[in-house]
Amino acid sequence: MEVTYQSTRGGQSGVTASQAILQGLAKDGGLFMPDRIPGLDISWEKLSSMTYQETAYEVMKLFLTDYTEEELKGCINKAYDAKFDTEEIAPLTKAGGAYYLELFHGNTIAFKDMALSILPHLMTTAARKNQADKEIVILTATSGDTGKAAMAGFADVPGTRIIVFYPKGGVSRIQELQMRTQKGENTAVVAIHGNFDDAQTGVKQIFGDQAFQEEMAGKGFQFSSANSINVGRLVPQVVYYVYAYARLLAHGEIGDGEEINVVVPTGNFGNILAAYFAKMMGTPIHKLICASNDNKVLYDFFTTGIYDRNREFILTSSPSMDILISSNLERLIYLSAGCSPEKNWELMEELKETGRYAVTPQMKEKMGDFWGGFADQEENGAEIKRVFADTGYLMDTHTGVASAVYQKYVRETGDRLKAVIASTASPYKFAPSVMEAITGKKSEQEPFVLIDEMSALSKVPVPKAVDEIRSAPIRHSRECDVEGMKAEVKEILSFAN
Ligand SMILES: *Cc1c(COP(=O)(O)O)cnc(C)c1O
Repeated sequence: MEVTYQSTRGGQSGVTASQAILQGLAKDGGLFMPDRIPGLDISWEKLSSMTYQETAYEVMKLFLTDYTEEELKGCINKAYDAKFDTEEIAPLTKAGGAYYLELFHGNTIAFKDMALSILPHLMTTAARKNQADKEIVILTATSGDTGKAAMAGFADVPGTRIIVFYPKGGVSRIQELQMRTQKGENTAVVAIHGNFDDAQTGVKQIFGDQAFQEEMAGKGFQFSSANSINVGRLVPQVVYYVYAYARLLAHGEIGDGEEINVVVPTGNFGNILAAYFAKMMGTPIHKLICASNDNKVLYDFFTTGIYDRNREFILTSSPSMDILISSNLERLIYLSAGCSPEKNWELMEELKETGRYAVTPQMKEKMGDFWGGFADQEENGAEIKRVFADTGYLMDTHTGVASAVYQKYVRETGDRLKAVIASTASPYKFAPSVMEAITGKKSEQEPFVLIDEMSALSKVPVPKAVDEIRSAPIRHSRECDVEGMKAEVKEILSFAN
């Protein structure tokens, strides 16, 4: 049965998966949602003997129904190959009473690779299927990891260009170097004078600017998004939750049907929403534990039912979660309002105008599968140190937030179901903060010195992605004000032609 997509704000419906991927954001500013969440149509016994690629096909075919088997398998095999440093693609590591689902074994050592390795293939296939004749320009706002992972995926892909905006001073040194050394003639990187929310809002404004879109269409360009608002990001992220459950079964860690909890370090709400989709498809997940850092807007939301972004934006040691406007939450709002675009529209308008909205008690009840928690920087550091000291397992500062929140969850609820913690980045990507956590000292050393010290201490070899940027030349030095983002896009595209 075909699954089609509609805007959470009601302006578009009956859109095929490939069109939704090509378009990115709906024309009315809403996000595309499938008209229903399909159920897994294969037994756990079968799933537990499948590879990552086979599992990906079983999950993705249910959502991307207008892709042929050959197209989808082609995309999957090109994405999940030797770019990943382990055949398992997303291995589970047991440490300190939880299972860490390591989503950082791809090109750029953060979980964004899981979806961004496949998105360029899904998108170029979609362009072919829909006879799109324009060059696709990917516009991306990044809190540090998406930008690099998207560029790694789209670099030198024919028929595409990519422009990445990141907050100057709002990403780690390694993240910044990774982006500024990016190769590929079709890549551009711009540091904006603002924070991540400014970057994301600026990109959304460009998407919503029909006159600008038409002007650019006249020059042969069509915009799309590699942010987690694109369903082509969301669907591939569902795969690893199904895979994790099947792996636990295969390893005899759980029995068939046994419920587990899932803990996700959250920023834009994309990763945890994918876990919710996995649950709705039939994966036995009890609670979805939403872990925030000091920017705890989601913790407040799940505890009070009030979303309020009117607060100070805090720069933390987990920069990829420094977000006050979690875009994908709109999809949960839409679902919990009984798929009502009117109710969702009303709340999104309130958010735009006042920075705040409250959900109804019924809606809050429908979100009962979620549990919100947060860990501040001190708790995060202490957790990284504790797990390393107890087990020798070293985690990054985002996974540290999730792990610390999980400890709080168990203390507060007594719920001891087995738990999978999404481990979203390699500790090498945030080496100075991780070293500070385990040594208790802030070091003034260069990141690469700390990286070598970390490798000696943890006995984990330095990943290729980090070694590569040690001496790579800087290729990108653009900067602009938030107001200048559109002009910057225009200038980059005029150079390109
Ligand atoms: C993007 C990111 C997150 C947040 O994921 P969302 O899908 O935006 O909630 C967490 N950790 C790392 C390392 C990330 O790159």
